[in-house]
Amino acid sequence: SVAQSNNAALSSVIRKKLMGYVGFANLPNQVHRKSVRKGFQFTVMVVGESGLGKSTLVNTLFNTPLYPAKEVLPPSAERASTVAIESIGADIEENGVRLHLNVVDTPGFGDFVNNDDSWRPIVENIESRFDSYLEQENRVNRQKIMDNRVHACLYFIQPTGHSLKQLDIEFMRRLHTKVNLIPVIAKADTLTDEEIADFKARILADIAHNKIHIFQAPTYENEDEEAIAEAEEIASKIPFAVVGSDQVVRTADGRDVRGRSYPWGVIEVDNEEHCDFVKLRQMLIRTYMEELREHTNNVLYENWRTQKLLSMGVAQDSSVFREINPAARMQEERILHEAKLSKMEAEMKMVFQQKVQEKESKLKQSEEELYARHREMKEALERQKADLEDKKRRIESGRPLTPEKGAVSISRLLLAVISDGNY
Ligand code: GDP
Repeated sequence: SVAQSNNAALSSVIRKKLMGYVGFANLPNQVHRKSVRKGFQFTVMVVGESGLGKSTLVNTLFNTPLYPAKEVLPPSAERASTVAIESIGADIEENGVRLHLNVVDTPGFGDFVNNDDSWRPIVENIESRFDSYLEQENRVNRQKIMDNRVHACLYFIQPTGHSLKQLDIEFMRRLHTKVNLIPVIAKADTLTDEEIADFKARILADIAHNKIHIFQAPTYENEDEEAIAEAEEIASKIPFAVVGSDQVVRTADGRDVRGRSYPWGVIEVDNEEHCDFVKLRQMLIRTYMEELREHTNNVLYENWRTQKLLSMGVAQDSSVFREINPAARMQEERILHEAKLSKMEAEMKMVFQQKVQEKESKLKQSEEELYARHREMKEALERQKADLEDKKRRIESGRPLTPEKGAVSISRLLLAVISDGNY
């Protein structure tokens, strides 16, 4: 059969060895060149109480002063009373690769006496970015889609050495289905190695206990051992204990490094012996940026989108849903149309009944009028008849009659009969 011969053809093609270089081996390079030309969009959100070193870490990660130096507010200064959402955009380039980076900051998070709802504006912000993406996808022209979705969320845990706070758990529980969560222990240089190990264990236990899903570097089947080992290595450091610094300091052995200087020595940001900064950078930028973007698109956004559309399907009142689903739109329009028709019908019936009633009462009235007239005429005629008979008797009995009187009466009677058409 055709299918069989197709199969045979396919397998023979597969088995064939190329006689020379054809060139499709260059496909990865083509894809690569195109991506490089287009550039990449990446949005990272940072969440945590103020002073935990968020802006310093972002500057350190991208090795750029993305955050301008902060003005320190005096304690008495007025502060906003809600969590704000601020976004910094920057185009950065490295070896000809352009990255459009967005850093979304959430100043105010966890800074109030009551932080119960601190997560709410952040969830809303993430969802509104999904909304905007969905809206762009539904446009007639989808050529230029801006991907402003949050691809990763660095959550800064205060280096208390205890365990997670209620605020931390609440935030992660609310966010873990909407964003790739990457927990980090802030200012890890304030804890000893042992304290960090214990703290990490307790944080992971809290996360597991609350069934919070944090981003894991994926491993694929058939992947080489090196890649698998790298993923495991990174995974073993979560939550990353990080140190940030935009200062270059000199070490005891005379090297200039990014780090923080203490009387007892220098903490080097880029030294894996000193902190997990390098592993965090690997997770976020060097190895898994594309995975973060894909997971956002294929899993987080997709789930949100499905739920959103389903919820709209039940409500049947969203323009977005109708735009996307023509069958649902037609169904909805049909229902609306039918409702309109039956309303019109009811109105027409009502008007008709009203008219009939009016007509009937009018008819009844004129019937009564007719009867009344009929009675009147009959009475008048009977009176005249009696009159005439009276005259007749008198004539017959030979009594004289005034001729004018009788003639007038008869002509009157005749006139009455003629002039009344109904009679
Ligand atoms: P943000 O409010 O979370 O953005 O915090 P900043 O980045 O403005 O940092 C607040 C203060 O903490 C600054 O004085 C920083 O120099 C300091 N800082 C930032 N990162 C670290 C760190 O990793 N370790 C220590 N010890 N201090 C840090």
